[in-house]
Amino acid sequence: MAQETATEKKTNPILPFIKIPENYPEEDAYLWGVKCNACGTKFLGERIACGKCGATGNFEEVRYGTEGELYVFAVVHQAMPDVKTPFIAGIIDLDDGVSVRANVYGLDPEKPDHSWFGKRVKMFSEVTGQDRDGNDVVAVKYKVQN
Ligand SMILES: [Zn+2]
Repeated sequence: MAQETATEKKTNPILPFIKIPENYPEEDAYLWGVKCNACGTKFLGERIACGKCGATGNFEEVRYGTEGELYVFAVVHQAMPDVKTPFIAGIIDLDDGVSVRANVYGLDPEKPDHSWFGKRVKMFSEVTGQDRDGNDVVAVKYKVQN
């Protein structure tokens, strides 16, 4: 009888600076990066050299927190065929000192407002689709806190 050859379905991050814990989704995905030990600057993901002071090979890995504030946003009205519009694309300044581009939920994209700048947001993750091998793909998003 033929051996079952199907490989186990995996859960992969949509971007390299997203980490998926072994026990996902019980433990949520998180952002990680490095901190330059020479000048303290933090980055999302891996670095070979520091963009601020130029130091090389002197980084420590950092796990970033889930909270920050909406620095700037755009309401997106056209996207890929499978993507529902309009949605809010934002740049979030994390409390940990790095910025990330992500979609923002909890605001009405039909009624954009200047008061959204600086809104407190909290990260969550979800499976947004499957790759061509059938593995789940996880993205991080932000929700406005009340
Ligand atoms: Zn540096």
